[in-house]
Amino acid sequence: MFSRHDNYLKSRKRMVETQIIPRGITDKRVLDAMLSVPRHLFVEKALWEQAYNDYPLPIGEKQTISQPYIVALMTDALELKGSEKVLEIGTGSGYQTAILSKLAEKVYSIERISMLASRARKLLDELHCSNVVIRVCDGTEGWKEESPFDAVLVTAASPDIPSQYIEQLKTGGRLVIPVGDMFSQMLTKVVKTKDGIQRFEMGGCRFVKLVGRYGWTEEEI
Ligand code: SAH
Repeated sequence: MFSRHDNYLKSRKRMVETQIIPRGITDKRVLDAMLSVPRHLFVEKALWEQAYNDYPLPIGEKQTISQPYIVALMTDALELKGSEKVLEIGTGSGYQTAILSKLAEKVYSIERISMLASRARKLLDELHCSNVVIRVCDGTEGWKEESPFDAVLVTAASPDIPSQYIEQLKTGGRLVIPVGDMFSQMLTKVVKTKDGIQRFEMGGCRFVKLVGRYGWTEEEI
């Protein structure tokens, strides 16, 4: 699918072997997705040589592309088998979206900054990620018309868990979201069961802020 862009295949192999597998990600589908998506294309050319290093990078508009391991960890927690409908909040560069597009049937992704959304759209088209729909709006409201989803992934920090994400999940569905204050958050997995929700804490993290009606306000960023 991405064979045109294989100059960095060696770097991706090294990334998976040194950053992802040793930290406990074993799902072969997730590892294969991390091996095949050309992460460097999602950052500016001056950063290509750093694209596979163990840290986040700037993508413009004061936003960042997450560290590779965090992308793998969040993706793994969604337990995707290939037939799912996934909602992603925070398209950003589109990197995480491309990973999801390889692992699920359809990806609905929301970004509030139109410049980022259009750049991601163009690149995802070039990479033939045809199962992705991107919408520019406030993602804190979810995407009611397309719900329910098998999985919801939020890639921006939220002060709490907006209830509409739970409402828009199928029973058995998974939500992964960083929850906390502006400086540090707990990566949180929520499973919706027929009796309510189960909540798991996956470790500390630091994301850019979720800005919107049920997140932080513009003035707070
Ligand atoms: N997953 C992205 C990283 C995105 S950073 C990647 O792989 O590159 C978080 C993104 O969330 C930013 O692009 C930011 O603009 C977006 N965001 C913040 N609040 C949002 C909201 N309410 N709705 C949609 N997107 C939002």
